[in-house]
Amino acid sequence: MLKIKNLHAKVADKTILKGLDFEVNEGEVHAIMGPNGAGKSTLSKIIAGHPDYEVTEGTVSYEVNFKEKDLTDMEPEDIAREGVFLSFQYPVEVPGVSNLGFLKASFNAICRHQGVPEMEDAAFVDFVREKMDDLKIKRGFLDRPVNVDFSGGEKKRNEILQMAVLNPRLKLLDETDSGLDVDSMKIVAEGINTLRSKNSSTILVTHYQRLLDYVKPDYVHVLAEGRIVKSGGPELALEVEEKGYDWLVK
Ligand code: ADP
Ligand code: MG
Ligand code: MG
Repeated sequence: MLKIKNLHAKVADKTILKGLDFEVNEGEVHAIMGPNGAGKSTLSKIIAGHPDYEVTEGTVSYEVNFKEKDLTDMEPEDIAREGVFLSFQYPVEVPGVSNLGFLKASFNAICRHQGVPEMEDAAFVDFVREKMDDLKIKRGFLDRPVNVDFSGGEKKRNEILQMAVLNPRLKLLDETDSGLDVDSMKIVAEGINTLRSKNSSTILVTHYQRLLDYVKPDYVHVLAEGRIVKSGGPELALEVEEKGYDWLVK
């Protein structure tokens, strides 16, 4: 689904990624770990098409409907319409826009892109409420402005709800566990597990292996010095937890 080759990228004239290779197939869950400042968020933002991050070499190709698209040539809104979802490390507050309105506008944009009819308002509310019940999210969430005055845990849960409604093919979760207490983290992990499916893929960016006790990845990668320096199974996360990152960095 996603094939990244020899990716070099910079932001604000600073080179961050230096020849990164990384592949994700349909149905897989990959965890990307790495020291602070290694470029994990940079990688997520490049996949999502953030305009501040400049790709200087390499390709980010995404296969959808048997067609290969180079995400580095696409605008973020077009990447999102193709089913790529980025859950931010720091979710943004959007005053004046209700959660329900936001979800409906996003959902409709995808319907239009896929050429399927939009849902009627009442049917959409029922559809969203059902997802909220599945994810044990309080109904009051819908009327509130997007993320405004939400706790850290509520913001993350709200992103899980967005994923449940939009049903993305490729889910990128950037440090979704950061700043969460154990109970909120378990709820978020449960949400991620509920949304796992054989035709969607998940990339979990995480500094600590704690989240991986609750969401079992198929593969674990360590990003350091601008590249993936080691890949393995879930045991690699435990090794990193025990030994830190220094042994992986020359
Ligand atoms: P990680 O998520 O692994 O902690 P980041 O991708 O956020 O790392 O950052 C990698 C490096 O790039 C850091 O040194 C960070 O300060 C720098 N960086 C990231 N975004 C920007 C930006 N918009 N402007 C300037 N420097 C940035
Ligand atoms: Mg980060
Ligand atoms: Mg771009």
